[in-house]
Amino acid sequence: MNAHDSERIKGMLESLGIGEAPSRDEADVLVFNTCTIREKPDTRLSAYLGDAGARKREHPELVIAVGGCYAEAQRERIFELYPFVDVAFGPGSIPHLGEWLGAGGEAPRGAFGEHRHFAADLPLHRERAFHAWVQVSMGCNSSCAYCIVPAVRGREQSRRPGEIVAEVTRLAADGVREVTLLGQNVNSWGRDLAPGIRTEFGELLRACDTVEGIERIRFTSPHPKDFRAPVITALAECAAVCEHVHLPLQSGSSRLLKAMRRTYDRERYLALVARLCAAVPDLALGTDVIVGFPGETEDDFAQTLEVVEGVRYDSAFTFIFSPRKGTEAAELPDQVPDAVKHERLERLVELVQRIASERNAERVGRVEEVLVEGSSRTDTALLRGRTRRNTMVNFGGAGQPGELVDVLIEGSTSTTLRGTQAALVAA
Ligand code: SF4
Repeated sequence: MNAHDSERIKGMLESLGIGEAPSRDEADVLVFNTCTIREKPDTRLSAYLGDAGARKREHPELVIAVGGCYAEAQRERIFELYPFVDVAFGPGSIPHLGEWLGAGGEAPRGAFGEHRHFAADLPLHRERAFHAWVQVSMGCNSSCAYCIVPAVRGREQSRRPGEIVAEVTRLAADGVREVTLLGQNVNSWGRDLAPGIRTEFGELLRACDTVEGIERIRFTSPHPKDFRAPVITALAECAAVCEHVHLPLQSGSSRLLKAMRRTYDRERYLALVARLCAAVPDLALGTDVIVGFPGETEDDFAQTLEVVEGVRYDSAFTFIFSPRKGTEAAELPDQVPDAVKHERLERLVELVQRIASERNAERVGRVEEVLVEGSSRTDTALLRGRTRRNTMVNFGGAGQPGELVDVLIEGSTSTTLRGTQAALVAA
């Protein structure tokens, strides 16, 4: 969501005649699009802003803008903490940055939650011409004990289906081949549109699947509790919906899942995995896992390892629990010591990497459909692209960005595959 917001910010600035500077030191306007989901981005922002403030003392004409979730969370204090910041805006208030700059700095300096709206009408600078993020909802109605999102992005608000499908259609006409539907809790989309519109996420997948020219549909992030039957059937039946689901686990211990207020337990989660795998053969599963949630015992952690080993995820984002001020979990007793968290994380990462290596090795010898992204980052003689299961492939062959190419997989690591265009092998 943050990357998508950055594309909107860039596109909007470009429409005002403000292009990307060759380096930070040469920029006239510095825009920080922040994340506050964990402590590390906050710390990094404070270092970046320290540098920016020092530059502004030498060049007072420099404009500094801070947007995103950190700005929203610190809305009461941001100008006090960083008096040299010219404008601050929350994630739902991106247009206000343009208004402020367009008005020559005369508009109010802060724009936050009360101005929330979808940014679909803003100009957009797409990082990849053939791929687009499509925001389908914003905010979240869950109350996961560790999460700051509901506080900074507000209650869930779904975009109307007609608007979304119209955007996907426009994108396809513009050469986009792959869309990723975005929402904090993407598969609960549509519920808040009732009673005016009765719909659900499976129906949205089906509607996007009918758009001519769209070859691949992905979505993130879904919540396990909202994977109802119509969504699973749509996943199985829609040709463009990729065989890849990101299914956040967070913990393998039902006791901890309850403390996290995730509203599912280990058994329900595993039953869902079984249903998804039965419906979509060859499904790739990704996940998020938090290590060191308050009260996590060695036994809880062992249960997480057990689930990771049992499900055999293709990829996993692993996080050390980071208490966020304003969340329930930050106030819980039994915070886990840092050394224990780090030691557990190391064990988890080792397991995740071993399984990912094994899963990728299983692809060797198969032919995968790859959407070409450009030259390989490690060897410019090769091309790079992604499979439908969302694995990066470096391969020998020909193809333009946005083209689909069949590739014979010949090698693998824990994160990438290697191969040769199938047509060349056959020849
Ligand atoms: S569902 Fe996701 S965004 Fe919503 S509160 Fe839970 S972790 Fe945060």
